[in-house]
Amino acid sequence: MGYAEVCVNSPVAQRRTFSYTIPQGLSTDVGQAVWVPFGEKLLQGVVLELSDYPAVEETKEIADIIEPHPVLSPAQVSLACWISQRYLSPLFDAVALMLPPGFERKALTFINASIPDGFDLSSLGQEQRHALELVQQQNKVSLKKLEKTLGQKKAQRIVSQLVRRGLVTRSYEMEPIKARPKVETYLSLAVEANEAQQEVANLLKKGARKQAALLDFLTNQPEPVPLVEARQKTKCDKATIDALIRKSLVAVQRVEVRRNPLSAQAINLSYPLTLTIAQELASRTISQSLGEKSKEQPEVFLLHGVTGSGKTEIYLQALAEAVRLGKRGIVLVPEIALTLQTIERFASRFPGRVAVLHSQLSLGERFDEWQRIRNGEVDVVIGPRSAIFAPQPDLGIIVIDEEHEWTYKQTDKSPRYHARDVAIKLAELNGAVIILGSATPDVETFYHAQRRDYHLLQLPERVTPRERSPLPRVEVVDLREELKAGNRSIFSRSLSRAIAKAVGGGEQVMLFLNRRGAATFIQCRDCGFVLGCRRCEVPLTYHLDEDILVCHQCNYRMPVPQLCPQCQSKRIKFLGVGTQKLEQEARNAFSEARLLRWDSDTTRRKHSHQEILNKFRNHQADILIGTQMITKGLDLPQVTLVGVISADTALNLPDFRAGERTFQLLSQVAGRAGRGPLGGQVIIQTYSPEHYAIQAAAKHDYALFYDKEIGYRRQLQNPPFSRLVSLIYTHTNDALCQREAERMKRLLAEEIDSQGIAGISIIGPAPAFIHRLRGRFRWQLILRGSDPSAFLAQIPVPQGWTVDIDPVGL
Ligand code: ADP
Ligand code: ZN
Ligand code: ZN
Repeated sequence: MGYAEVCVNSPVAQRRTFSYTIPQGLSTDVGQAVWVPFGEKLLQGVVLELSDYPAVEETKEIADIIEPHPVLSPAQVSLACWISQRYLSPLFDAVALMLPPGFERKALTFINASIPDGFDLSSLGQEQRHALELVQQQNKVSLKKLEKTLGQKKAQRIVSQLVRRGLVTRSYEMEPIKARPKVETYLSLAVEANEAQQEVANLLKKGARKQAALLDFLTNQPEPVPLVEARQKTKCDKATIDALIRKSLVAVQRVEVRRNPLSAQAINLSYPLTLTIAQELASRTISQSLGEKSKEQPEVFLLHGVTGSGKTEIYLQALAEAVRLGKRGIVLVPEIALTLQTIERFASRFPGRVAVLHSQLSLGERFDEWQRIRNGEVDVVIGPRSAIFAPQPDLGIIVIDEEHEWTYKQTDKSPRYHARDVAIKLAELNGAVIILGSATPDVETFYHAQRRDYHLLQLPERVTPRERSPLPRVEVVDLREELKAGNRSIFSRSLSRAIAKAVGGGEQVMLFLNRRGAATFIQCRDCGFVLGCRRCEVPLTYHLDEDILVCHQCNYRMPVPQLCPQCQSKRIKFLGVGTQKLEQEARNAFSEARLLRWDSDTTRRKHSHQEILNKFRNHQADILIGTQMITKGLDLPQVTLVGVISADTALNLPDFRAGERTFQLLSQVAGRAGRGPLGGQVIIQTYSPEHYAIQAAAKHDYALFYDKEIGYRRQLQNPPFSRLVSLIYTHTNDALCQREAERMKRLLAEEIDSQGIAGISIIGPAPAFIHRLRGRFRWQLILRGSDPSAFLAQIPVPQGWTVDIDPVGL
């Protein structure tokens, strides 16, 4: 086949490929990384398809391959195409997800003089002559340098003119590779040991004490020694080493070493546990599916089990079974820093066979892990959402722990993919099994399980290995009653008593607050009333700068009322508290307790999560105060009390998923208490004690929550009964931003009309929930329908718009 369809790393390429001729003798395969001429540049690209004929008449030749082996597997190539289509993202953005760390490089353009003999320079214009002189002075100049001297546009124009007249030529050189394997220098003897010993004696006679010392040291080493170590131990310098090398007594070796991100942690081996009956049942079903040869559809398992029900043990045994069958796995966790305990458990079950990928690794470390994975050296790859793109060969199983977590959706850059959906697609392409695990499954996932699209496996009870530790008792405190009783502290009487008792008894307490900064909704301090939009049934968001309430779906605006519409209280403008304030108040109220705060302000540094966690684990603090970070993955047996300062912050997000979010958060928080023999208790403070999400969380009752929630979703035609697309326009000028959003809405509406599409509605425009970000204003439109992205795929979305398919937060 003579032609290749190449996905090119250029912003103009968008969702299409370009045809290139494969030059004679260049072996090119699907997934191969190549250099291709594009316009006047040489760009990186990846071959997505080979064909016998080009898609266009005139094609250029592929300039070269970048690496001898394809960088993407055929399944990954298909996955990249799927991602680009599904999330309407540029193809190269999708491909880039799977490229080796540090892969992306530019080719630098150079201009070389090629003036024919006897050419009359005076026939040139002044500008051209000036440029040509600059090139001629050194025979070769980088285009960058010319651009600096002449200005970018001008330099490019003049160079093009000179190229056309044959006075200069372009050539390309690659930017240096960013990540390389780390190489260490080793020293060893270059002669037999007895010969070396003789030399030692000779050297000593000559008074070359340092050389003698080094040679003697090396004689006594069974293996080559790292240069650094030899230097340290013998206090020798470079001259000494060089002298021995010159005499051919010592040899230098350069050895690739692996930078190992797990090496800092001591790992103890662990062995498979004897499963409980519920675990056994689930485990056997998964094993069966793993053993089946060919599957048309990948089997998606939803493993629904309360915290501590033994889900992780099932993942471990399923992975072991896959390995036994000659396959490998990928495990996704919501966030590495918060799941160190979980990672330790994988590392200790598969010693030396686990790779961890995450953003805090240096480029070199990531590069090493990537190579190790591609070489088939690990059984299990663990990482956050991006780990789904690891080049794991023989992929047989994918595990997504805490599948409901929003961190699985990439929201800040293209492609705005959801790792769960990508993983299901990847499992399909590889014939792999996939396990989605959660104590509080995403409503949409559970809906699929109910419809039997997914295979539901349940673990209804905690394993309770230590002593009896059933799910903790949850008390819901009505804050309105507190105020009526004259308690104005942020701690209810019940919570106060419980904290004092726990701390007094040498136990530990966690206090949880959903948000760091100021709350975004206002609430009546006396009756808890929150003003909502009458049209959209979402809470109005308070804008501090304008002192106004705004609906972030339909842009309805109103001033903050003087009196509470429900109870006529004057104390309507209550903004809630942040973690700092909470810490202060806790210090005042419980002066004898040692406090520790854990939020994104206190955890900016690299190992700060681990430090805070260790401190608390070692009982160097009595009370841990934190945001949602503290709700995840921790297993702290000494914690007997968890207090939720206000459940209302999540409940009042202007988003149809607010109820789900609240239920998930409260359930996670509650799961932190009572993991030890002392048992535990949870106290939830709220102004809405009757809300179904809070009620269901207090009763540890997922079904209760799900039934109510799915009913509301159906009623309002929200996902899973529809799909959404969010379109956000940003600009420094707010009014212009709003006008563009309105123009876009008209354009979309006309398009829907003229195509006669039924069932797509446009919501908005309205200011986005985060209206102003880094000096730019943001306006949002929402499309809702059975397949709004298929509709949107045919419409060229203008510059400045960000499209998010299946957004997780509105
Ligand atoms: P989950 O992932 O559902 O929160 P884990 O797998 O972490 O649950 O299990 C909770 C605790 O129970 C862990 O300490 C784990 O080691 C232990 N455990 C799990 N399964 C068993 C078992 N079959 N026998 C004994 N202990 C178990
Ligand atoms: Zn009120
Ligand atoms: Zn509204």
